[in-house]
Amino acid sequence: MKFPGKSRSSTAAFLPVCCLFLKILQPGHSRLYNNRYAGDKVIRLTPKSEEEAYALKKIYHQLKVDLWQPSSISYVSEGTITDIHIHQNASRALLTFLQEANIQYKILIGDLQEALENGNSLGTQRRRRSLSKYNYEVYHSLEEIQCWMHHLNNTRSDLIQMFSIGRSYEGRALFILKLGRKSQAYKRAVWMDCGIHAREWIGPAFCQWFVREALLTYRSDPAMRKMLNHLYFYIMPVFNVDGYHFSWTHDRFWRKTRSRNGFHCRGVDANRNWKVKWCGEGASLHPCDDTYCGPFPESEPEVKAVSKFLRKHRNHIKAYLSFHAYAQMLLYPYSYKYATIPNFGCVESAAHEAVKALQSVHGVQYKYGPASSMLYVSSGSSLDWAYKTGIPYAFAFELRDTGHFGFLLPEMLIRPTCMETMLAVKNITMHLLKKCPKERRRVNSAT
Ligand SMILES: [Zn+2]
Repeated sequence: MKFPGKSRSSTAAFLPVCCLFLKILQPGHSRLYNNRYAGDKVIRLTPKSEEEAYALKKIYHQLKVDLWQPSSISYVSEGTITDIHIHQNASRALLTFLQEANIQYKILIGDLQEALENGNSLGTQRRRRSLSKYNYEVYHSLEEIQCWMHHLNNTRSDLIQMFSIGRSYEGRALFILKLGRKSQAYKRAVWMDCGIHAREWIGPAFCQWFVREALLTYRSDPAMRKMLNHLYFYIMPVFNVDGYHFSWTHDRFWRKTRSRNGFHCRGVDANRNWKVKWCGEGASLHPCDDTYCGPFPESEPEVKAVSKFLRKHRNHIKAYLSFHAYAQMLLYPYSYKYATIPNFGCVESAAHEAVKALQSVHGVQYKYGPASSMLYVSSGSSLDWAYKTGIPYAFAFELRDTGHFGFLLPEMLIRPTCMETMLAVKNITMHLLKKCPKERRRVNSAT
């Protein structure tokens, strides 16, 4: 069985010079992001009728609004929890409108700049003593994450191999970590990606946490040992590298890629760009929308590179796991339609067990179910694409929280979030190693 990157790529073999002088990109200014979020608010609205929903859509188009949830204004209807980030200049107009229209609202974040600066250590001088003391409880820039990957590749070659599967629109390497005990024998594999959407920083933090836990507990935890002995994990800590970088340097709430499409708006939603009912319901043809599906399927080099890799290895990749935020949900296909997947029984029981395990850590509750009915119908997603490509277990996590901090989940919540998610992922993985009785029965009855 051939696995990629058997001979170490030259890019991954040595620690780049920049890693020896790790420093944080921020802060150059006294206020983060040039204080651009001062006075901005995040407001929650739940329209009580279709009239209210219609009114909201109208005002949305008039004011400069950044929608946090749902991902597209077209999803807003009666009863939809709608979180919007509104610029300071527009907030008075919006609040007046809501009061006059008698639409109830709740201010989730009163001053976004303050929330941003309070929740993390970006604004303080963070000393990096060495990569061996890498701090997993802070958010890391792309540069730091890539240095960390190089470091692991050099120091933990017993279990880790790093390689690149291509380049992003802006030319950044798309690095993957292959984690697991090396073996000549056939091994099944699990794919994990984090950070398809740039502003969901808890995703990349979890991918890093997973690697750390795997390396730390390989010898002491029989379950982890079994997982790494019997499986490979392909882990992509930052999928949307350009967007993630941009969310550190310019716009903390950037979601899309950074490609140019000949319009004044940049970027494509990397989770609407896959070749599965591309640009159908739940995706937008408008380049300025956050759910823009792109000019054609797989137009984004990042999506193209990952889909090529997954297609090539679909015979042994048995699970596809993608990490997003925020909603506290564990989702499985279908996303583009209301229908039941053929192996529903096995997938649903894996989800049920995973959510139960997750809750056992800190009592945090996750909902689970098909993405279409749990969230909304969205076409061109990686979840559906992975499933249709033949990966039988495809899951998307929507990590913490449910809107109190939203995308600004404070660093102090990285540890509890990652600990509970870790258990859920281990649970799904162990499920893979067992035969699913429901699946077996289904196969038997079919033959
Ligand atoms: Zn997302």
